[in-house]
Amino acid sequence: MSDTIEKVKCLIIGSGPAGYTAAIYAARANMFPVLYQGTQPGGQLTTTNDVENFPGYPQGITGPAMMVELQQQAERFGTDVRDGWVTKVDFSGETHKVWVNETTEIHCDTIIISTGASAKYLGLPSEQKYLQLGGGVSACAVCDGFFYRNQEVVIVGAGDSACEEAHYLSKLCKKVTMLVRRDEFRASQIMQTRVKNTQNIEILYNTDTEEVLGDGQVVTGVRVKNNVTGKEQEIPATGFFVAIGHKPNTDVFKDYLKRDAVGYILNEPGTTRTNVPGVFVSGDAADHVYRQAVTAAGTGCMAALDAERYLAAHDASFQVNTATNY
Ligand code: NDP
Repeated sequence: MSDTIEKVKCLIIGSGPAGYTAAIYAARANMFPVLYQGTQPGGQLTTTNDVENFPGYPQGITGPAMMVELQQQAERFGTDVRDGWVTKVDFSGETHKVWVNETTEIHCDTIIISTGASAKYLGLPSEQKYLQLGGGVSACAVCDGFFYRNQEVVIVGAGDSACEEAHYLSKLCKKVTMLVRRDEFRASQIMQTRVKNTQNIEILYNTDTEEVLGDGQVVTGVRVKNNVTGKEQEIPATGFFVAIGHKPNTDVFKDYLKRDAVGYILNEPGTTRTNVPGVFVSGDAADHVYRQAVTAAGTGCMAALDAERYLAAHDASFQVNTATNY
């Protein structure tokens, strides 16, 4: 444990669009925010290629470039952006305590949680084996697709992410086989149409993944089963991509914050307030419905404004920065 305890007015946990937007607003409101980036600085958008639906970028922008710009914007107003992972919290008393990397202890007047969500996996032993080996299992086509140029790959999932990733892979790979467990997609019509119209994407409906096949080092194929006919087949592939949704990164808060069955933090409707006064939530950590960069940024802004109002009501020494126009 740490010898010294740091005190901060506003601690922001997470570095996606929600965290950085909260930081921009908090810094401009004299809250001197400290932002911990977590294990994936920039968050999920750093695993996305083109972002074409964020207002203000008529030509689109890559996810990583957008996150660099957001970080620079947060730092321009004085946000203290740090490396570090929150490993423990204690929200039982009046002072909210947070530990970073097991050692650094921070006492916070306000906390904005923007920890986002992480990719889910099927959980098959063979999938986990080749994932751990770095031998051909991935949950991020944009990160890893490059390694499978001119090869055959399989992707599982039927939502917008799976369609987006399958389409991305189709531009790099010889063939993409898409495994859809029901007889229809979950994805939006436009995304479905895109994959259905792509020549080198084959879609297998009613199909479950039975096993990721390999030679002990790398993936060589996928054994699948039609869940209507019971027929099994082996699909040759060097890469197996998983695009079946995400899990919110909120376990560290589970003893103190109310969450839903999946783990999304519950907020008071219309606000970013959690059940603990002074602790606010923004972005995908609380949003299982919209999950967009722009909605995450919007709730990041809300969280900073809610935190500022909380400080104004609870801390007589806190001066709202009236010179700042939001
Ligand atoms: P979703 O939850 O929307 O979809 C998950 C998909 O994975 C579903 O089709 C589901 O099947 C399938 N799935 C889940 N578990 C398994 C399993 N064990 N085996 C096989 N298939 C499985 O997640 P997404 O990540 O696709 O999207 C999340 C949100 O982000 C959505 O709101 C989406 O619209 C949005 N998004 C928007 C994009 C854009 O607009 N550019 C891009 C990407 C995401 P089933 O349908 O049978 O349940």
